[in-house]
Amino acid sequence: MTSNVYSIFLAVVTCLPVLGGPVLAAQPLPQMKPLGSGTGHGFVEGVDTPAAKPSSAPKVEKGADPAPDTPARTQTSACVIPGVELTVRSPVDGENGCGFSDAVEVTAVEDGDARIAFSGPVTITCEFAKVFAEWLRDGVMPASEKHLNSESLLVMTGPGYQCRRRNNLPDGKLSEHALGKAVDISGFVVPEGQAVSVEKDWNAKTEKGRFLTDIHASACTHFTTVLGPDADPHHVSHIHLDTGCHGKACDYLICQ
Ligand SMILES: [Zn+2]
Repeated sequence: MTSNVYSIFLAVVTCLPVLGGPVLAAQPLPQMKPLGSGTGHGFVEGVDTPAAKPSSAPKVEKGADPAPDTPARTQTSACVIPGVELTVRSPVDGENGCGFSDAVEVTAVEDGDARIAFSGPVTITCEFAKVFAEWLRDGVMPASEKHLNSESLLVMTGPGYQCRRRNNLPDGKLSEHALGKAVDISGFVVPEGQAVSVEKDWNAKTEKGRFLTDIHASACTHFTTVLGPDADPHHVSHIHLDTGCHGKACDYLICQ
């Protein structure tokens, strides 16, 4: 599965004919800076700490149950989301509280003829995959059609799961990435070869800039944490999305 997706991505970036589905046309693509794989590649870890955290945000002790909003992880063998290409993984069992049981690797989301593929498999929980897919369909596809003339596109994502704590502090709160409830996006590529870079096109008075503004706004109706280039200097190159709990009732939204 992974190699298949990687093959598709390679086909895209190397301008070879794309195999399977109305994915992306064979056009020269601008250079895009991919996010890290969790093992380096220049991706700055621990950058998903909100600039201003609500004072009522629950504290998480090292080794404790990682998040009060974490539901019981009973779904271990099946995750079926219509229109979502995924592979059910064995539970992710990291150290120091990292990990989750309902793990899946998501590679693409479809809606009719429209298809959003990822630059690499995204390892997240099944529940987060549902939220992510909803946003891609309800927020990204329409915005892409409006501003980029294509509902289908490639999304440059990070790996999703990363076992780390916020701000790289040894005893800091676990990043939502460590719980499979976060993803980072650095850009998009549409079939005509247009590339949208979060770093380069954010706030630009262009269709690409307006596309990014639109998808950031729609993300704030699907996720509880949305951190883009306006959030802080750590996010100039990507948009962080997660469904972490903020506030005692988990009803605090961070949209920056
Ligand atoms: Zn992130």
